[in-house]
Amino acid sequence: MADYVIAPPSVAALPVRGGGLFPVRRIFCVGRNYAEHAREMGSDPDREPPFYFTKPADAVVTGGADMPYPASTKDLHHEMELIVAIGVGGVDIAEADALNHVWGYCSGLDMTRRDLQNEAKKTGRPWDMGKGFDHSAPMGELVPAGNFDPSKGKIELLVNGKVRQTSDLSKLIWSVPEVIANLSRLVRLAPGDLIMTGTPEGVAAVQKGDLLEGSIEGLPGVRVRIV
Ligand code: MN
Repeated sequence: MADYVIAPPSVAALPVRGGGLFPVRRIFCVGRNYAEHAREMGSDPDREPPFYFTKPADAVVTGGADMPYPASTKDLHHEMELIVAIGVGGVDIAEADALNHVWGYCSGLDMTRRDLQNEAKKTGRPWDMGKGFDHSAPMGELVPAGNFDPSKGKIELLVNGKVRQTSDLSKLIWSVPEVIANLSRLVRLAPGDLIMTGTPEGVAAVQKGDLLEGSIEGLPGVRVRIV
């Protein structure tokens, strides 16, 4: 037994469809990876290299559990995203080899305190408190990579039954293999890492009581109520 001076934290994990748990090590998120979303955020969607921010592993909300409306914001936004789960780590991964590092995929939400993020952008401060807060990453069941093709497929988010975001994975500016290759030149990817690949246009505020239902063609959905 290690000589911990306090009890070690429990391991955050995603449920796998059909049984089992995928332990979450780190959560990397790609910013502005759909052109229409980059435009709605006031940016020019050229192919500037991808950039990243992170969330803590224990920000995941699973099993359809409620998400408490977070403190210190009046502008909580949804961002519906495809999430990649890394099963085999590596550094300097080649694009052609990248999908061999993927264990599976799931649907998820990059919940964002937009007012705090906008303030951070304005003042040149880190995004952490706008992005990496408690319960900020609701996710659906993970499925093994199998025959899922992350290069195309409808991605959609309903709020209270109405379509808020709809797009297609083919519109990712940086594809899943490109993101894995690029990120593996910045950090050594490890088993358990998740990559949130960015959101399409249509991001907007949610309120207490709202029901968010996200779907990606070929994957289990993500469902969460804000309470
Ligand atoms: Mn996002």
